[in-house]
Amino acid sequence: MCRLCGLQCYDLINLFEDASHQRNLIAIIKKYIRINVALQDSLPHHVCGPCLAKLDEVVDFVDTSQATQSKLNSQLRDCTAERSIEVNEDKLYELIQDVKVELEESETHFIDDLNDEDYGEMLLPMY
Ligand SMILES: [Zn+2]
Repeated sequence: MCRLCGLQCYDLINLFEDASHQRNLIAIIKKYIRINVALQDSLPHHVCGPCLAKLDEVVDFVDTSQATQSKLNSQLRDCTAERSIEVNEDKLYELIQDVKVELEESETHFIDDLNDEDYGEMLLPMY
């Protein structure tokens, strides 16, 4: 009986005896479908051909999905980094400070001009 599908099959592969498979099927089954197959357990130690093919597909699918996520995340990081260079906070602060100084200077001139006029007008009747 196949450990994964529970069916009686002719092309069963013993997970503990099969040497033709270089990959560690027990580790793959544990990692990708979260089933612990141990030599000591009294459950079937065999998997069938169709289940092995499905296992390959699952491994492929999971690995591809994980690789895509890493790729997308690094693209998002690159994109965010580029944007922060465009709107450099220090540069923006400098610009704001420059505009502020210019504004303060022009306000001071404006107030000085007004004060001079007021002073002059107020002085006139005194003479
Ligand atoms: Zn099976």
